[in-house]
Amino acid sequence: MNASVAIVGRPNVGKSTLFNRLVGRKLALVDDQPGVTRDRREGEATLGHLAFRVFDTAGLEEAADDSLTGRMRQQTETAIADSDIIMFVIDARVGVTPSDRQFAELVRRSGKPVILVANKAEGRVGLDGAYDAFSLGLGDPVPLSAEHGEGTSDLLEALMPFF
Ligand code: GDP
Ligand code: MG
Repeated sequence: MNASVAIVGRPNVGKSTLFNRLVGRKLALVDDQPGVTRDRREGEATLGHLAFRVFDTAGLEEAADDSLTGRMRQQTETAIADSDIIMFVIDARVGVTPSDRQFAELVRRSGKPVILVANKAEGRVGLDGAYDAFSLGLGDPVPLSAEHGEGTSDLLEALMPFF
């Protein structure tokens, strides 16, 4: 089976860092500035014995009124529609934000299998934030550090039932 996985979430949670780690190359632009990924990027990911197609997306652009920006929303919805599995990423150091909740709604509405990833979870601070993610109602969060490569075996375990 050639499954495809979309990495979605608001800007700056580490989607592109996760994408790069899964693909093993720096295909996606990582930047401190939110929303730097302008276009959808795709690559061949490997995680343990699993191989799948992965999409990196731009996140929501946080407008002043915290509404979802049309183009970003469209891009994300398209990536969700084109994928079999969604990796929904939050920042475990920040915890769940109103923007995350709006995003969770988009993901939930798709009815597709969701893996909730609590990224930036290296160290104790991250684990507290990961706990916060339970409140999204999208299942058990997988604590991960995309940057440091921690938690990838838990991510593999979360993905396995869908393959
Ligand atoms: P995106 O906007 O969701 O694609 O986020 P990026 O991948 O561009 O990352 C945003 C920022 O978070 C960058 O400064 C990354 O270096 C940082 N970052 C990504 N993953 C981690 C992580 O696991 N831990 C920490 N501490 N920082 C991370
Ligand atoms: Mg990005």
